[in-house]
Amino acid sequence: MQNIDAFKQFFTTSKKIVLTVHLNPDADALGSALGLASVLLKKGHEVSVLSPNAYPDFLKWMKGNEDVKVFEREREICEGLIKEADMIFSIDYSSLKRAGEIGLLIANSKAQKIIIDHHIEPEDYADFMEWSTKAGATAELVFDLLGELDWKDLLDKDAGECLYAGIMTDTGGFKHPNTTQHIHEIVAKLIGIGVDAARVSKWVYDSNSLNRIKLLGFALSERLNVLPNYKVAYIYLSKKDLADHNAQKGDTEGLVNYALSIKGIVMAALFTEKENLVKMSFRSIGSFSVNDFARKNFNGGGHMNAAGGISNEMNLKEVIGKFESLLPEYKTELNKAL
Ligand code: 5GP
Ligand code: MN
Repeated sequence: MQNIDAFKQFFTTSKKIVLTVHLNPDADALGSALGLASVLLKKGHEVSVLSPNAYPDFLKWMKGNEDVKVFEREREICEGLIKEADMIFSIDYSSLKRAGEIGLLIANSKAQKIIIDHHIEPEDYADFMEWSTKAGATAELVFDLLGELDWKDLLDKDAGECLYAGIMTDTGGFKHPNTTQHIHEIVAKLIGIGVDAARVSKWVYDSNSLNRIKLLGFALSERLNVLPNYKVAYIYLSKKDLADHNAQKGDTEGLVNYALSIKGIVMAALFTEKENLVKMSFRSIGSFSVNDFARKNFNGGGHMNAAGGISNEMNLKEVIGKFESLLPEYKTELNKAL
């Protein structure tokens, strides 16, 4: 962080701190926020963690989970906390619209603001930034920031497991190209303070309901479309498909990776029909940028090889139609990406 001394100075007296995460927070967003919250609490600050909406059960083992305020359920409490805050953190996002209505409240707040994030093209609203697209996870940046502040000794096993979950999931279980030497060094230190890597992996990856496994089977056998000419594969799930399998929040997470795991595939997509919108997940390998693809065509974005988007105007069929109709334009790029 550029102005680290001013940032550190700010915390020398007890402050009211609000940590916010993006809509549909993942393990990196929530783990980073709860890991950091634990340290800030030990420093004697009043700390709240706010999520715009609910999140899946497989994240609820994290220490501090019971104290997370969910904006869509506890709007007034959240509004009050933001109004009273001395400092507001944006964790794992750097575009206010990614935090839904919380983003609007942050924009209008007089509190100091800090972004801790690794997404492309951050907005210019923060007084402090711990931001790098080179970081594989926001949890990595939280760990580095604790080092810059000389607060690493305050990180305990439980908070370490929150950070570990963020690093593990955002690197795709240490498989993506963002798995660096630095990431492994951090993970070694986390294990050094007692983090149980196998336990976290079990909680996050191997806590499936039978319904979720059956939904996976259905999606792969009935809703997977492969377009070998374009090196593209996509999966789609309608509201009815989800209801038929009693799908719960988080049940489609990771599904897109099965499409990407097919040999020769360069871009994979998952289209899920929600109440009044279609949610899109894009993944790629090599030089094909799904961030550019999602930004340009679907009002979304993310990272080079993992991005998302939302459509409020088009229905599921129309979104898929648009997606397929765009592919000829990208054929050359897709074919030379590997
Ligand atoms: P996922 O497919 O797992 O929901 O998201 C993949 C990546 O894209 C994440 O880094 C996430 O932050 C980003 N992302 C997902 N949805 C959106 C969106 O609607 N807009 C933008 N700008 N980024 C998104
Ligand atoms: Mn992240």
